[in-house]
Amino acid sequence: MTFPLNADLHCHSTVSDGTLTPEALAERAKANGVDLWALTDHDEVGGQQRAMDAARTQGLRYLTGVEISVTFADVTVHIVGLGFDHTDPRLAEGLADTRDGRGPRAIEMGEQLAKVGIHGAYEGALKYVGNPRLISRTHFARFLVESGVCRDTPEVFRKYLTEGKPGYVPHRWAKLGDAVKWITGSGGLAVIAHPARYKFTPNEEYALFSEFKQHGGQGVEVVTGSHSAAEAVRYADMAREFGLAASRGSDFHSPDESHVDLGKLPPLPADLTPVWSLLAERVH
Ligand code: AMP
Ligand code: MN
Ligand code: MN
Ligand code: MN
Repeated sequence: MTFPLNADLHCHSTVSDGTLTPEALAERAKANGVDLWALTDHDEVGGQQRAMDAARTQGLRYLTGVEISVTFADVTVHIVGLGFDHTDPRLAEGLADTRDGRGPRAIEMGEQLAKVGIHGAYEGALKYVGNPRLISRTHFARFLVESGVCRDTPEVFRKYLTEGKPGYVPHRWAKLGDAVKWITGSGGLAVIAHPARYKFTPNEEYALFSEFKQHGGQGVEVVTGSHSAAEAVRYADMAREFGLAASRGSDFHSPDESHVDLGKLPPLPADLTPVWSLLAERVH
């Protein structure tokens, strides 16, 4: 599997914080010209079998996927896993532990928001949750938009749900080394998701990339819905410097919220090794 290939290896369904089902995503990916697809729900592989079956129905090639929440240098970092065995028990156990704190955290978010006059946010967010094991800030954001507190989800995050804001509850996620191990231990390839989002200092970023490699991580997202063109150029350079393969994914969540649709991304720079060239045997 080499170029040209329209791969989209990052998106979310109702099994985490997306608004479309795995089946609807597969259909949309096909309609948008995607050749190779991966559903990467947050901390959850419960949608993988459905996505794989839907991909087969659509005649799409498929790689299993997940996006694991990690705490590194006190910052939440996302690690995408691709091409693993989604029935692996150690992966399941690690993801279950990672998801564990979400329920209590969400209750506390509701309490914090009530203190600034926003009542019923926890119950409101729950209405948007497709998977009771996976309540996310995104569900709160949808409720705050629906109830007219904010105009759109970026405004909710800016005003209420990011560090230092009234509805932000700090949380400790998985360790970087553990997340990489769960992915590689189940036959997959680990990828640093949307690195430009973390706003690390150069030293912290260097530490993330080098520790990620030491743990056995092999890829980095270069072209993503979360990167500007300049950021894609910068992380293409990081991929070259660190000898990492490159990934490409829209991070699509919803037709109403996402500005980049499935498969509608620029190609990867041609000199980089695409992650899928290392995963040929893992494609369904
Ligand atoms: P959580 O895993 O509960 O902390 O929620 C993180 C999710 O919130 C991410 O996966 C995104 O879908 C969404 N998110 C984070 N930051 C923003 C933002 N600034 N604007 C819109 N959505 C965001
Ligand atoms: Mn999300
Ligand atoms: Mn992410
Ligand atoms: Mn994502």
